[in-house]
Amino acid sequence: MLTISPRMRWILHVDMDAFYASVEELDRPELRGKPVIVAGPEPRGVVATASYAARAFGVRSGMPTAQAKRLCPHGIFLPPRFDRYEELAQKIRAILYEYSPLVEPLSLDEAFVDLAGTELLHGSPEKVAKEIHERIPKETGLSCSVGLGPNKLLAKLASDSAKPGGLRVVRPEEVQSFLDPLPVEKLWGVGPKTAARLWEKGVRTVRDLREVPLGLLRSWFGQKGGEALWQLARGIDDSPVVPVRQAKSLSHEVTYPEDLFSRDQIIAELRRLSLLVVDRMKAERVLAKTVQIKVRFSDFTTVTRQTKLSEPTDHPLLLAAEAVGLFSRVAIPPGQGVRLLGVGVSDLVPATFSPLHLFVDPKLAEAIREVREKFGPEALSLWEPS
Ligand SMILES: [Mg+2]
Repeated sequence: MLTISPRMRWILHVDMDAFYASVEELDRPELRGKPVIVAGPEPRGVVATASYAARAFGVRSGMPTAQAKRLCPHGIFLPPRFDRYEELAQKIRAILYEYSPLVEPLSLDEAFVDLAGTELLHGSPEKVAKEIHERIPKETGLSCSVGLGPNKLLAKLASDSAKPGGLRVVRPEEVQSFLDPLPVEKLWGVGPKTAARLWEKGVRTVRDLREVPLGLLRSWFGQKGGEALWQLARGIDDSPVVPVRQAKSLSHEVTYPEDLFSRDQIIAELRRLSLLVVDRMKAERVLAKTVQIKVRFSDFTTVTRQTKLSEPTDHPLLLAAEAVGLFSRVAIPPGQGVRLLGVGVSDLVPATFSPLHLFVDPKLAEAIREVREKFGPEALSLWEPS
């Protein structure tokens, strides 16, 4: 039930700062400090990462490229170069593996490391955190934020509070004083809906949440939901660090606070979700042979569609095009909006499979990208049917 795990754990969380944009600045130093925005092409592309200089204009990841251009007309808009990001992500992961075999990559630029039992070899977890925090920028030229805490929840919140470029250690005796002032929506598992209900009840900070009796939380959010919140407010999280496993499928889905009715918006979302799935595929070094989408309408009816590819791939534009193509086979019932969208891949094979697929050849991909940049997105319609 509601107990604190007796085993002392130390979990490290590494999060690269504005990763894609920082890689572009690394490779082109003349861009440093400028508003660099890595984004898909208009009219339907979305922002993958914005540099801190671009964020100052209000540009955020997930935002349509067109909107980012309005907010930041002098921004430097670049297409993503996943192969380069992956190369650097591997370098970063290699550093982490020197300290522990228990490394769980969450995406290309983020990972948990379980430091249990590494003390004899590498010294105290705090020393290891300091070392990693110094080594990553030194060996890759990229800035990272590092958090160290007694569990994943605290480690992630710690690195978040250290952004950009910092290191934050939360010792067990500091957990409550660290958590208390944070807004409740910072807690993992408190989504926009739960947060909105908590605000309605006057619960804004973790301290507020901690003062709500368990019985009341259960009556607000049900047995399970109430207990989960009770634990989060106390910084309790027993979830293990799961080292790279051979996943059977990967997916991303989002429930929208308001139903989507615009076709353009739905397509932009499918592309954004595809990008997130590709990011996970790169982190797990897999290619996929099957793409599927999930669409849930306002009345909760749910449809899925899937398609098999001729070759396994992890190419973002190809997978996004497949997801959008699948959506064109979905009939939207009259009057219904879309409340949930998901994009997933399955039939995964290790990325070392390396098929000679047209779209996977990075040189060709680069060439096609250049043509599209020069002559517009429609120049090669085969590439990204629209
Ligand atoms: Mg990051």
